[in-house]
Amino acid sequence: MVNKVVIVGGGTAGWMTASYLKAAFADRIDITLVESSRVSTIGVGEATFSDIRHFFAFLGLKESDWMPACNATYKLAVRFENWREPGHHFYHPFEQMRSVNGFPLTDWWLKEKPSARFDTDCFVMPSIIDAGLSPRHTDGRLIDQPFDEEAEEMQGLTMSEHQGKTQFPYAYQFEAALLAKFLTRYSTDRGVRHIVDDVNHVELDERGWISGVRTAEHGELTGDLYIDCTGFRALLLNKALDVPFVSFQDTLPNDSAVALQVPMDMERRGILPCTTSTAQDAGWIWTIPLTGRVGTGYVYAKDYLSPEEAERTLREFVGPAAADVEANHIRMRIGRSERSWERNCVAVGLSSGFVEPLESTGIFFIHHAIEQLVKNFPGDEWSDVHRDLYNRSVEHVMEGVREFLVLHYVAAKRNDTQYWKDTNTRVIPDALAERIENWKRVLPDSENVFPYYHGLPPYSYMCILLGMGGIDLHHSPGLDLSDTAAARREFAAIQDKAAGLTKVLPKAYDYFTRLD
Ligand code: FAD
Repeated sequence: MVNKVVIVGGGTAGWMTASYLKAAFADRIDITLVESSRVSTIGVGEATFSDIRHFFAFLGLKESDWMPACNATYKLAVRFENWREPGHHFYHPFEQMRSVNGFPLTDWWLKEKPSARFDTDCFVMPSIIDAGLSPRHTDGRLIDQPFDEEAEEMQGLTMSEHQGKTQFPYAYQFEAALLAKFLTRYSTDRGVRHIVDDVNHVELDERGWISGVRTAEHGELTGDLYIDCTGFRALLLNKALDVPFVSFQDTLPNDSAVALQVPMDMERRGILPCTTSTAQDAGWIWTIPLTGRVGTGYVYAKDYLSPEEAERTLREFVGPAAADVEANHIRMRIGRSERSWERNCVAVGLSSGFVEPLESTGIFFIHHAIEQLVKNFPGDEWSDVHRDLYNRSVEHVMEGVREFLVLHYVAAKRNDTQYWKDTNTRVIPDALAERIENWKRVLPDSENVFPYYHGLPPYSYMCILLGMGGIDLHHSPGLDLSDTAAARREFAAIQDKAAGLTKVLPKAYDYFTRLD
């Protein structure tokens, strides 16, 4: 029976994996997690997908159990600034697209254009975000959505089962180090053995399977299954087992980042409940508001910008509050391991793969990987079927997200520096090029986006196409023959609903003070 697991690495990936496996298998599994005190964690990774709620629900945690301990806030959307032109912004919200007479509302929007903003015309959330409000009422009730929160949690659905059923209206933003600390306590309370030490050698047996990891002070640690959570180093999977790495650099050239954690009086500043991505000359800057500080960083391509210039730009962007804050410079390995499960080793987190954090997919990749690991867990025999299913699922998720991110750059209208000019001439995958040609005439739907589960519903693609503004889109010809009355009523209903909610919802910051 495969029931003895050694996890190497104690970042977000290591501790999410340890706690999830314990929640799934309790004492029927024996877990040791070893992490180095010498090699630090990546120190970023603070914004998530809305599906992350299934992770916390699986662990049996309510928001009030973990959010205050992690300085967490709500994220209702990604806000894109200046990707089209200076001063322009739009949201990619967590809100399902409405349909009228079988056509998505965005299609009607292309025909009717009630205003210049597709996001506030087609969704309720953008008005709530612009006003800095919480998606919950002061008494904790969720804003009116077609969603039965408790019933869904009771069913213990995983995120892939949940896909397409409903769209939960928000995700979370949190301090990565505090979440790792919280999950350390959760896991060790449930019996995970925690060792702080360096792994300096990976032992292989005669078949090339891992037989143990040698540590500096605790001797050899042995298990049946080894989980590589060593970050970009990928000590077990890529180094010891020699699994090749497939780079995405040709289509996603951003390979560097500089990050700052800026303490701020959030009560005075207020919380805009979203992650903001502001386009820059050679990349973009993220802004993530937490309850006690703002996390920010410049993601760029080193072929276009030096680390010094990137840091200077970021400090200017933040202003005086960043003066005494130390910068964290990061080289990013963009791409995926050819196989994330090889023999008796599974890589989770940055060791498995990573794309730039434009849509906050790093933690989503981790969550997806551990759900799939539980689903395909070996049991009393190692089965190639389970391993191959796992590898295919991880590959699909990463390749799908890669397409979605490439679309951001292809669709962006911005064209004022060499970096942005090159986004229009860079070669993109053939399948994506073909899909983009189709989307000019038929907006994304479940039949014409990347065909495997990758966490992004068709409406997400619509938002990027409509918001970025660099691709000419046409409404469906059938709409010219259709009665527009119902669509107009829907646009009006969205305005009414947004106006009603902005009058009664509390400020995002005020809501968190009552969670403590
Ligand atoms: P790490 O945090 O690097 O942890 C590696 C662990 O391995 C550490 O504990 C280290 O001590 C240990 N280790 C290494 N070598 C050894 C050894 N020899 N012996 C023992 N232990 C060892 N994701 C999101 O979802 N949202 C975001 O907003 C987001 N923003 C990001 C921004 C940037 C610039 C980057 C680079 C990533 C971002 N990510 C984001 C991704 C996210 O940070 C990672 O997915 C997440 O932190 C998981 O990292 P990890 O645990 O795999 O690796």
